[in-house]
Amino acid sequence: MLFQTTHQSPRTALTIFAHPDDAEISSFGFLAKLRKQGWRVVVLIVTRGENGADPSEWDRRLEAEAAAGLIGAELIFGDFPDGFVARNSELISWLERVLDRERPEVIVTHHVGESRTAHQDHVAVEAAVQIAVRRADWTPTLLLAEGPDNDATFRPNWFVDITDEFETKLAAIGLHLSQGRKYYMQPDYHELRSRRWGLSVLAGRERPGIKAYWEAYFLAQQVN
Ligand SMILES: [Zn+2]
Repeated sequence: MLFQTTHQSPRTALTIFAHPDDAEISSFGFLAKLRKQGWRVVVLIVTRGENGADPSEWDRRLEAEAAAGLIGAELIFGDFPDGFVARNSELISWLERVLDRERPEVIVTHHVGESRTAHQDHVAVEAAVQIAVRRADWTPTLLLAEGPDNDATFRPNWFVDITDEFETKLAAIGLHLSQGRKYYMQPDYHELRSRRWGLSVLAGRERPGIKAYWEAYFLAQQVN
């Protein structure tokens, strides 16, 4: 169980996402919660996100550093080309080396599933992560996180209560000023998504007067 404290500490969770804002959008509530439980959280970002904002005006890595600082997460930056990430041996080997070094108990990456419209970098990263995880000589828990867009094919089976971490998640998303105009960066959007999962998971069993916010994942692999 992820939140039991009987394991040796620190336990390590590693996120592997394509762009500097993906972890915040998809999983920062969960990551903030893990940090509170004493976990190490390592956020790996495959690209510099140079297609999402003019690099002469914005350094998206600084935005990611500020967001990681909110929860005390460590960062690993790749330098693969934004928009052109390929599921090739270069990416897979790099991920294998990072996995071997960090030996995470939990890995979080993109959910692509049956979507035909997922970002091409997300498709490549998720595929490369699945291959690297399959080759690891231990069996980490693998969670696929809800992407930035509204994906009708996303059918989560693992949920985490982020009610106490929701404001931190919004603050982290808000630090990505270069992306501020995108619809999936708006607090309203995350209010809707997290409330939707909270209401449906709790099925009317919310604590009186307290709005529940949850994140949703697809659990791809877990060994107990
Ligand atoms: Zn992305």
